[in-house]
Amino acid sequence: MERDILRLLAELHKNAERQGPGGKPETLRAMELAQIDRSVPLRIADIGCGTGAASILLAKELDAQITVVDFLPEFLEVLEQRAREQALLERITPLLCSMESLPFADEEFDVIWSEGAAYNIGFERAVSSWRRFLKPGGKMVLSEITWLTKNRPTEIQRHWDSEYGEMGTASEKMAVLERHGFIPVGYFVLPRSCWEENYYQPIEARLEEFLENNRGNAEAREIAALERAEAELYRRFGNHYSYAFYVGIRADS
Ligand code: SAH
Repeated sequence: MERDILRLLAELHKNAERQGPGGKPETLRAMELAQIDRSVPLRIADIGCGTGAASILLAKELDAQITVVDFLPEFLEVLEQRAREQALLERITPLLCSMESLPFADEEFDVIWSEGAAYNIGFERAVSSWRRFLKPGGKMVLSEITWLTKNRPTEIQRHWDSEYGEMGTASEKMAVLERHGFIPVGYFVLPRSCWEENYYQPIEARLEEFLENNRGNAEAREIAALERAEAELYRRFGNHYSYAFYVGIRADS
């Protein structure tokens, strides 16, 4: 059953430009904020890469070897195809693996990148357990769903309490970076377009076809209903939360 749900999720999301809220200008802005060095060859890991919205841009912009990690083979296949079409395949190393048990060596990477994915193991666990893969001075660049307001309607508070108990404010996320041996460099909040135009609208545009292809499948109906409900919640309460990018530099000790 679990496997069927993952297959359905992959089917719904694999033909999208991205699998979470975000955008090209925002990925570029995060690169700026992190002051990624463009003058030297870099080793980068993009963890929870999906179909590569960020990975492809990183490969295009930087002189980098990028290990792209996801646990859904369908997404990695699309990513590879996209990289091939843009003649970027030689910069990309796909790795089918869980972000919970990464096979990397200590101090292997200059940059760890992860957009809209760390929540799957929790931001704090991601920050603390991935740190050792970074060289000292290496950069951790993560996007993470974040509360923007203090007084939140009970309905939305309850929703995210049950979906993601670790959801916090920006200062709490910066404190996590500090607590786990990073110099916090900064953060910025993603605009509404990253959710609406770049994420929810493209999903909604595909739902009818998805349901048609999986007619009579109760799990597909449930997935579609959940996607619609989440978009609806965002439309009602999106002033209270967004994704934000966080950047930390691995401190020496
Ligand atoms: N970074 C991409 C995808 C974000 S969606 C983008 O911004 O578009 C989150 C991604 O994390 C999905 O591709 C999902 O398959 C992947 N994922 C979820 N849990 C995972 C895990 N335990 N290990 C590896 N990848 C995981």
